[in-house]
Amino acid sequence: MSTKDFKPVQATLRVTRKKYITPHYIRVWLTGENIDDFSDTVVGEHNKILIPNKGVNEIHFPHFDTEKRRWIQPDESVRPIIRTFTHRGIDLNTKEIWIDFAVHGNESPASSWAIRATKGSLLGVMMKSGEGQLFPLVENYLLVADATGIPVVSVILENLPKGSKGTCIIEVHSAEDVQEISTRAAVDFHWIFNSTPGQNSGLAAAVKKLVLPEQDRYAYIAAEQRTVKELREYLRKEKSYTTDELEAYAYWKMGSSE
Ligand SMILES: Cc1cc2nc3c(=O)[nH]c(=O)nc-3n(C[C@H](O)[C@H](O)[C@H](O)COP(=O)(O)OP(=O)(O)OC[C@H]3O[C@@H](n4cnc5c(N)ncnc54)[C@H](O)[C@@H]3O)c2cc1C
Repeated sequence: MSTKDFKPVQATLRVTRKKYITPHYIRVWLTGENIDDFSDTVVGEHNKILIPNKGVNEIHFPHFDTEKRRWIQPDESVRPIIRTFTHRGIDLNTKEIWIDFAVHGNESPASSWAIRATKGSLLGVMMKSGEGQLFPLVENYLLVADATGIPVVSVILENLPKGSKGTCIIEVHSAEDVQEISTRAAVDFHWIFNSTPGQNSGLAAAVKKLVLPEQDRYAYIAAEQRTVKELREYLRKEKSYTTDELEAYAYWKMGSSE
C-alpha cells in the first residue's frame, strides 16, 4: 500500500450497533464527537484500537514526544490494550466508522471486547489520515487471506475496476462463515475451511495449485505468520514476484499476543 502526507487521527468512540456477520465474525459500528477527523482516512488501511481496562471509563492515548522522537505511554494503571485492525468503512452521514472482528474466543482482549460490546461500549481508535492508494491498478490480482485478512481483501475487491480479474482464496472456520463480498472484477473465489486457525491451514497448498499470471499482476497476502512466510518465499523465489507485485503481511502469530 502506498501512502503519502499522513496525519494522525485519534478518537474516543462508542459502539452504536453490532452484528454477527457470520458465526465467527462481528461487525461493530462506532461513533464519537470527532468522527469527521476520519473523513480523509483510507478505508482498508490499518488502525490501532485501544481497549480500556476494566473500571477505566476513558481512553488514555499515548502521545508522541517530538523532541525525544518516541511514544510516551500513559500510566500503567490506565493504559489501554492496543491491537491492530482494519478501517473497514466510514459513513459521514450517520457519523459512523466500522471494524470487523474475527472471533476467536473470550480469552484475548480484542476478540473478547467484540463479543462483549454493547451499545455505548468504549473504544479508542488511532490511525493515519491523508491521501493513499490501497492497491496498484493491474490486470491480474491474487488475494489470499485467513479470517483476519477478510476486511482488507474485501475492500480491495469492492474497489477493483471492471475489466480486472483475479483469484481470491479465503480460509474460514466452516461453510457458515463464508461472507458476501461484492466486486465488479471477474474474480474466481475459493473458500476453504479450517476449524483450527493457525494450524492445518490450507491456504499455501491452495495457492500452489494455481496457474499464476506472469505479468501485469499483484498479490496481497494477509494471514497467520507461517502461511505468510511460506507464500512469500514461494511467490518470490518460485514465481518471481517482485517487491512491487507482492505484499505479504503476517496479521497474527499463533501462540503470541500482538
Ligand atoms: C495490518 C493488520 C490488520 C488487521 N486487521 C484485522 C481485522 O480487521 N480484523 C481482525 O479480526 N483481525 C485483524 N488483524 C489481526 C489482529 O490484530 C490479531 O488477530 C490480534 O492478535 C487480535 O488480538 P486479540 O487481543 O484478539 O488476541 P491476542 O491477545 O493478540 O492473542 C491471543 C492469542 O490468540 C491468538 N490469536 C490471535 N488472533 C487469532 C485469530 N484470528 N484466530 C485464532 N487465534 C488468534 C494468538 O496467537 C494468541 O495465542 C490485523 C492485523 C494486522 C497486522
